[in-house]
Amino acid sequence: MTVTYDKVALIGLGLIASSMAHAIRAGGLARVIAGHAKTAETRRVALEIGLCDTVHETAAEAVKDADLVVLAVPVGAMGAVAAEIAPHLKPGATVTDVGSVKQAVIDAVAPHLPPGIHFIPGHPVAGTEYSGPRSGFATLFQNRWWLLTPLAQADIGAVAKLRAFLQEMGANVDEMDAGHHDLVLAVTSHTPHLIAYTMVGVADDLGRVTDTEVIKYSAAGFRDFTRIAASDPTMWRDVFLNNKDATLEILGRFTEELFALQRAIRIGDGEHLFAYFTRTRAIRRSIIEAGQDTSAPNFGRSKGTP
Ligand code: NAP
Repeated sequence: MTVTYDKVALIGLGLIASSMAHAIRAGGLARVIAGHAKTAETRRVALEIGLCDTVHETAAEAVKDADLVVLAVPVGAMGAVAAEIAPHLKPGATVTDVGSVKQAVIDAVAPHLPPGIHFIPGHPVAGTEYSGPRSGFATLFQNRWWLLTPLAQADIGAVAKLRAFLQEMGANVDEMDAGHHDLVLAVTSHTPHLIAYTMVGVADDLGRVTDTEVIKYSAAGFRDFTRIAASDPTMWRDVFLNNKDATLEILGRFTEELFALQRAIRIGDGEHLFAYFTRTRAIRRSIIEAGQDTSAPNFGRSKGTP
């Protein structure tokens, strides 16, 4: 048991915050966990399942005396929450966030925070398609990357303490510049989500294939798209609105590649297709070798699991 922060306040009590609450408890990483969510229903559930020691009606109350404040709300809500909590933060407290986009969150949050508060933006590269206070689990961050994008003037001691805390939850921690983070995540997460949304939308629109057929004969590829496309609409709307430039850049490249593959199919260029698929297969192998996914068939799902 290593208490890193005496009191941790979780603002937003969805998948990420509830997973943090479980991991903090499992590791004994804080003496008190305070929480706040927007709706009375989420706050009620959080109390019912004992997610936090105290659940508060306002974010301002939740952050009182907290040594670490975690903003775990959708990216578009970060600025308003920061403005609300700013006057109530304990001097010297650390504020971090878990938003999937970094530069826009820094621009929205940093101007509100008073001097003496350590703002260290972060992003756990871990998640599921589920949301809400019941969706969290203690091992979500195990062996997953947690990216920190500290500002130039960040306090080294405060960053080291947060890093140690995240590592205690099982995460591997890396630091990078916020702009670079947004570009990398546009490639690895944001654009793939948009493509999955599009593919599921196309299947839904396709008149020739009835909905029943799409569901009944859904093959592994399509099923994986539907899993991704089931992710929280608010979260993903905010991701795209706030990582506009990087997503548009990657989408542009994606479209070019897609046209090249489309042409290869039209002209029967099997060599091009084969070389392309061989290259992409190697990327899958490196992800498995890096321990970031399972090599078990069908992503380790048991037979018949939808
Ligand atoms: P989630 O399960 O949908 O939960 C979001 C939480 O934020 C809910 O408890 C919601 O409260 C609360 N909330 C929304 N607006 C609020 C406001 N104005 N004030 C206070 N609370 C508010 O979301 P999540 O998946 O945990 O995502 C949270 C953050 O983590 C997002 O910024 C997302 O980009 C990031 N992230 C998500 C994933 C992922 O895979 N899901 C991965 C990495 C990072 P109510 O329930 O009362 O509405």
